[in-house]
Amino acid sequence: MTYDYIIVGQGIAGTMVGLQLEERKKSFIVIDPCLSSTSSQIAAGIVNPVTGRRFVKSWMYEDLIRHATEIYRQIEDASGLSVLREVDIIRTLMDHRTQNDWDRKRVRADFEPFISDDKHLKGYDKVLKDSDYTVGVVKGGYKVEIAAVINYLREKWMGERRFLKEALDFSNLTICEDGVQYQDIHAQSIIFCEGYRFRDNPLFQVAPLQPSKGELLIVRVHDHNLTSLFKRKYFYVPVSEHRIWYGASNGWEVEDELPTTLAFDKLKSALTHQLGVPFYIEDHQAAIRPTVIDRRPFMGTHRTKPNVHVFNGLGTKGASLAPYWSGRFVDFILDGKPLHEDVDIRRFYK
Ligand SMILES: Cc1cc2nc3c(=O)[nH]c(=O)nc-3n(C[C@H](O)[C@H](O)[C@H](O)COP(=O)(O)OP(=O)(O)OC[C@H]3O[C@@H](n4cnc5c(N)ncnc54)[C@H](O)[C@@H]3O)c2cc1C
Repeated sequence: MTYDYIIVGQGIAGTMVGLQLEERKKSFIVIDPCLSSTSSQIAAGIVNPVTGRRFVKSWMYEDLIRHATEIYRQIEDASGLSVLREVDIIRTLMDHRTQNDWDRKRVRADFEPFISDDKHLKGYDKVLKDSDYTVGVVKGGYKVEIAAVINYLREKWMGERRFLKEALDFSNLTICEDGVQYQDIHAQSIIFCEGYRFRDNPLFQVAPLQPSKGELLIVRVHDHNLTSLFKRKYFYVPVSEHRIWYGASNGWEVEDELPTTLAFDKLKSALTHQLGVPFYIEDHQAAIRPTVIDRRPFMGTHRTKPNVHVFNGLGTKGASLAPYWSGRFVDFILDGKPLHEDVDIRRFYK
C-alpha cells in the first residue's frame, strides 16, 4: 500500500492534520491504537477567550476561533453531528483584587466581545450551596465535542481503508531517502502526532514536553437545567440533562495514565463543599496532556530527516489550537511556507 503520508496518532492533532491533507488532495493512512484514556478523548473541549486569575485574553484568539468555527461547522455539515456550541463561562470573582481586575478589563475595547455586563448565575444558584457569589460572565467561548469529531473521522477513514488500529512499533519502521516503510505500507513522509508519547519517540532528540496529568469526575445531578459553564477552582461543564463534567485537576506525576486517589479526593472534596443538591460520581478519568515548556505548540521537520515531521504540543488548548495550526503546518510541509518562529520545532534544536 502506498500513500503520500503516514500519520502516527489520531488525537485532535492527527485528526486535524488528516483533514487538512484531505483538503489538499493528499493520500494518507492513520495509525492509532484507539485507546479511551487519551487527552483528546476525555477533554471538556472548552474554548475560552479569557483565561487565568488575571483574565488574560487567549493567545491569537480571533484567528484561532475563526478557523476553528469554520472547520468544526464543516464537520457538522458532513456528519450531521452537533460538535460546536457557543457557551457563556461564569467566573467567580472571589475578592476585591479579582473584581478590580475584572472591572478594568470590562471597560477595555479589546475585551468588549468577550466580557459581558451580565452577573447572573444562570441556574447555578439552584444547585450550589452558596449562591452569594459575585460573578462575571465571559462570552464568545465555545464547547467542542472533541471525541465526537475524532471518532466520526476515525470511522470514516477506517471505512476508506486509511486507518490501522495499532500503536506504531518503531522497530518495524524504516526511514530511507526515498520514503518511509512500515510493514507493507510505503509513504513519502511520516508525521508524528503522538501527544505526550512524543517523549518516547526514538527519532527526535529534543525534549520540549512537560506533560501534565488531568483528572475529572463525571457527576450525575438530576434535571440540573444548566447550559452555561461555571468555574470556581474547577470547571462545571454540563454534558447532558443529568450529567456534569467536573475538573480538571493538574498533576506532574506522569508515569502512567491512571486516575489517582489524590486527585479524586481533591475533586470530590471541592464538589461536596460547593454542591447543594444530591449528586453521584459516575466516573473518574485521567489522561496526560502534551504541555510544552514554553506553552506553545511545536511543529516542523526533523533536524536531519526531511521526510519526518511532527505536529504536537497542544497543551491545554487542543480544541482551539489544532484547526488553525494544522493548516499552517500543512502549508509548511506542502508549500514550504515558513512557520511562525513561536511554534517552529527548530526553537528546540539549539
Ligand atoms: C482532563 C483534561 C481536560 C482537558 N480539557 C480541555 C479543554 O476543555 N479544552 C481544550 O482545548 N483542551 C483540553 N485539554 C487538552 C487537550 O485534550 C489536548 O490539548 C489535546 O487533546 C491534545 O491532542 P493530541 O492529539 O496532541 O494528543 P492526544 O489526545 O494525546 O492524542 C495522541 C494520540 O496518539 C496516539 N499515539 C501515541 N503513541 C502512538 C504510537 N506509537 N502509535 C500510534 N499512535 C500513538 C495516542 O493513542 C493518541 O490517540 C484537556 C486535557 C485533559 C487531560
